[in-house]
Amino acid sequence: MNTELISRAAEDLAGSGYAIALTGAGVSTESGIPDFRGPNGIWTKNPEAEKKAYRSYALFRADPRQYWEERLSAPGLVGDFTTIMPNSGHYALRELEKEGVLRQVITQNIDSLHLKAGSEKLLEYHGNALKLRCLACGSRYPQEEFNLDHLFKKNLLPPFCLNCQAPLKSDVVHFGEPIPAELMQLSLLEVQKCDLMLVCGTSAAVYPFASLPMEARQRRGVKIIEVNAGPTPLTEGNISDYLIQGKTGEILPRLAEETKKMRGEV
Ligand code: NAD
Repeated sequence: MNTELISRAAEDLAGSGYAIALTGAGVSTESGIPDFRGPNGIWTKNPEAEKKAYRSYALFRADPRQYWEERLSAPGLVGDFTTIMPNSGHYALRELEKEGVLRQVITQNIDSLHLKAGSEKLLEYHGNALKLRCLACGSRYPQEEFNLDHLFKKNLLPPFCLNCQAPLKSDVVHFGEPIPAELMQLSLLEVQKCDLMLVCGTSAAVYPFASLPMEARQRRGVKIIEVNAGPTPLTEGNISDYLIQGKTGEILPRLAEETKKMRGEV
């Protein structure tokens, strides 16, 4: 582990005025959820699954019933999120929030693990796999409010919005689907406010999320620190100031601990 870079990042965090974190699938691999593009990623191992995922949004628009039937008859791509627990990386980000250092987490993850770790200032940019969303009125519902298995067995799919009766889809933002406008706006506001951005466990390949560090880079003096298993386009394009290479579950707790110590010393 690069202790020098961790100390540098802790110093940067301790001295920051408004730090935010962007997270991706890499922060959840140590909880047992595979990422998409890492060496053991779902797309890396099964390119066919990627092609199928690209069809989901168009299928919902064309035929909500078939969309739900396909979703419920195939096991979830990235596993059953209800039983999976956060890891030390999620808890470290929560610690930094409690410490008053980290003001916001913007995650691409749909797995609820930041929520389970207790993060309060959280924007789920790509939605939440345990919720349903109405595309017509924007209402969101916990999945357990609908007995999806029962609706499937009784041939009563899709579920309908309790507010406006439009068909509901998963809250997850599928490929080709626009990011909900309020999430885009709130995320952009946070990026415009920050003076430090921690970018953790993302390949920075999925847009528009990957444009958030670019947006921050436009402003003078903003520090962008990556924590990732390897270099990304942000590293290679000099968008990030530096990369702490390794596992988020190991680096983030060290970073939180050192940041706390440094703040205590001030
Ligand atoms: P990605 O799979 O494209 O990239 C993950 C990155 O994290 C890679 O660079 C990989 O090397 C790195 N990584 C893997 N394990 C790591 C670890 N323990 N420590 C540090 N780095 C690690 O993921 P992405 O950039 O988030 O894009 C994938 C898209 O798929 C996102 O939009 C997300 O919504 C979705 N997705 C979500 C989940 C989830 O919710 N857990 C899982 C898979 C995919």
